[in-house]
Amino acid sequence: MSTFPTTLQHCQALDTVDALHPLRDLFDIPAGVIYLDGNSLGVMPKTAAARAAEVVTQEWGQGLIRSWNTAGWFSLPQRLGNRIAPLIGAGADEVVATDTTSINLFKVLSAALSIAAQDAPQRKLIVSERSNFPTDLYIAEGLCKERGYTLKLVEPEEIAAALTADVAVLMLTHVNYRTGAMHDMTAVTAAAHAAGALMVWDLAHSAGAVPVTLKASNADFSIGCGYKYLNGGPGAPAFVWVHPKHADRFWQPLSGWWGHAAPFAFTPDYQPAPGITRYLCGTQPIVSMSLLGCGLEGFEAADKLGGMAALRTKSLALTDLFIQLVEERCQGYGLGLATPRAHAQRGSQVCLTREHAVGGSGAFAIVQALIARGVIGDYRAGDGGIHKDILRFGFTPLYIGFEDVWNAVEHLRQVLETGEWQKPEFNQKHAVT
Ligand SMILES: *Cc1c(COP(=O)(O)O)cnc(C)c1O
Repeated sequence: MSTFPTTLQHCQALDTVDALHPLRDLFDIPAGVIYLDGNSLGVMPKTAAARAAEVVTQEWGQGLIRSWNTAGWFSLPQRLGNRIAPLIGAGADEVVATDTTSINLFKVLSAALSIAAQDAPQRKLIVSERSNFPTDLYIAEGLCKERGYTLKLVEPEEIAAALTADVAVLMLTHVNYRTGAMHDMTAVTAAAHAAGALMVWDLAHSAGAVPVTLKASNADFSIGCGYKYLNGGPGAPAFVWVHPKHADRFWQPLSGWWGHAAPFAFTPDYQPAPGITRYLCGTQPIVSMSLLGCGLEGFEAADKLGGMAALRTKSLALTDLFIQLVEERCQGYGLGLATPRAHAQRGSQVCLTREHAVGGSGAFAIVQALIARGVIGDYRAGDGGIHKDILRFGFTPLYIGFEDVWNAVEHLRQVLETGEWQKPEFNQKHAVT
């Protein structure tokens, strides 16, 4: 199925005719870097530095307390939420940007359990995937302990069979962080509902990466990340969506004053705000929030060029090309593909495995050697069992081009051919991989 170009010149020609290619000029990408880690921390929008300076020196420095009103600080969670909504298939006033993904998961999972406790108290299980991102599992585990539930972890192909009559909530990440495998949101949500369970989706690797259809898929709750594909900056606020039919049913447990119906009435008792605003807790990190707005500008620019649908088409072309070139040009070095080939099952990243030899898979060191060459991907350790060590490459269609893919594979080929990854400096582990 070699329908793709296989020379550097062909890749360059593809960039030339790609209508989305100029969008990369909206971002500050260091010279000499091919950045394939936008699924972990997105690149910096060029407007971010000036926006940060404006927020700090003008809005804070000069405006001071007045800026809560005059600079619109107070309504930032809702305004940013409304800008995120179209990327995830949510309606107006259904999303807020706030807190972290972990914290937002705690809120929505708590609310889901409260609904389940009322509607179906005999249901005592939360089901998730064993290879879900650990923080999701840790948050679920903590809530299970507190509320008397059990967390059941299964492999993706076991999910359907796990939806028994004692399941309260199915909690999944739409695109798996380790493999890039994507669930069929509509089909899985329907299966959960048919089994009487509520559906919670984590969109950390979906929002801004693939079109998402929360409302059309009839999902119940969702959360996602601001600093990955949304390019909001390190530790950017995350977001939370709740289906309007559930939004007013329960308080979320972090019932702070920003979620109050009238925070500045300063009443001693809590009255939750209607709708998604009750999912706020306390005062927001305004500098960080403002920068998330810069990240969203990239998608607003893409809207004029076909939006998420066009970005998705390009993303699949990039990941198809990467897979094809790795298979053609890096043969014989023990690499395998952990990401599904079927488009409908693939997010915006490609994950490679490597056969284990004496001393391990070498996956970590190969990634380090690539980083030293300016090709930044990352490594995720396996569990010694069916989940293997992963070399992970994210392809953000807003700023990655076809020539980048060619060059990344050429570096990978050279790293493998020369064996330079075996140098001691590439085998030294750091705190953050
Ligand atoms: C990145 C990621 C998170 C991050 O959570 P934080 O609270 O921002 O640290 C959570 N869940 C998934 C699935 C992720 O990929």
